Amino acid sequence: MTDLDSTFPLTFTLTPSETVRAEVEREAILADPGFGKHFTDHMAKIDWTVADGWHDAAVVPYGPLLLDPAASVLHYAQEIFEGLKAYRHADGSVWTFRPEKNAERLQRSARRLALPELSTEDFVESLKQLIAADGAWVPEGGETSLYIRPFMFANESFLGVRSAQKVGYYVIASPAGAYFPGGVTPVSIWLSTDYARAGRGGTGAAKTGGNYASSLLPQEEAYANGCAQVLFLDSSEGKYLEELGGMNVFLVKKDGTLVTPESSSILDGVTRDSIIELAKARGHKVEHRKVTFDEWRDGVASGDVVEVFACGTAAVVTPIAALKGADFVIGDPDAPAGELTMSLRKELTDIQYGRIPDVNGWLTRLDA
Ligand SMILES: *Cc1c(COP(=O)(O)O)cnc(C)c1O
Repeated sequence: MTDLDSTFPLTFTLTPSETVRAEVEREAILADPGFGKHFTDHMAKIDWTVADGWHDAAVVPYGPLLLDPAASVLHYAQEIFEGLKAYRHADGSVWTFRPEKNAERLQRSARRLALPELSTEDFVESLKQLIAADGAWVPEGGETSLYIRPFMFANESFLGVRSAQKVGYYVIASPAGAYFPGGVTPVSIWLSTDYARAGRGGTGAAKTGGNYASSLLPQEEAYANGCAQVLFLDSSEGKYLEELGGMNVFLVKKDGTLVTPESSSILDGVTRDSIIELAKARGHKVEHRKVTFDEWRDGVASGDVVEVFACGTAAVVTPIAALKGADFVIGDPDAPAGELTMSLRKELTDIQYGRIPDVNGWLTRLDA
């Protein structure tokens, strides 16, 4: 679909909330925000129609959306989303990390789901506008952040099967506590053999709700087997590593080489890309190629695979101690986090929180 952004760049109007929470209430929430359960006072939104393109950009009070029961997203799941964070630096300023990468991914997801593309400029502006209204909701200290969730969905009241002619884009934000409040702890993950996340030609490379919907049942299987997450293999041969339900995966070899799976049905993570860049800058070899399950199993047995970790915006980097299946355990569930895993995690979070120089130009200031 072509970009029908007729009045580019968009200007946002502001309708202030009449129920902005008092500072004491906000501070009480920020003291223990958890993840994804409290939301700020406002949300950003932009409407799109075939006739008018993107229009009516606004920051409005946070609140329920009124959807017609025939709204196409409820029936055919034409929906995409993004996830990024706002970080408060020691001087109080508010920053986000590589938002243009999220904007470009939202554009790729939009193309795959036959939704309209939003320009990178309008995407970044929508984040800045929401922070202008709700910047006080960015927590400070530790590994806390304001999680930002942009999303776009088909909102035409029509049951015919075709791409919607009316679409909504929204940005909501939710304060988030440290993902690992008790310190980073390695997890065991479950290998799904009965289910795949995505197949060739499917929507695996798009950040769309349907991929998550199909991962929920295998995710329950993981929980039932004492695992935190599920790892998927390729759908055609069940031989190659793909990714977790919402995180990319890396193996670290004895010689310091990092290996991450290549596949047309993997979601291209901003965290993964950043880790590749940081590792290369330290002189590590990084291989982005097909990786078999056997390479992991045999590598752990022979000592060639020394660390495994998953990565994504929410948890940044999660060490993986073991991979479990119905009749095997690869690795030691009680093993400590890998050294390289933890040092890459530290470098990335130090950049995000402004504790070391941002030599790659990855940060964008949101509150100025
Ligand atoms: C969002 C997501 C990731 C991680 O991407 P980041 O940009 O690093 O947050 C990985 N896999 C899936 C399926 C995802 O939806």
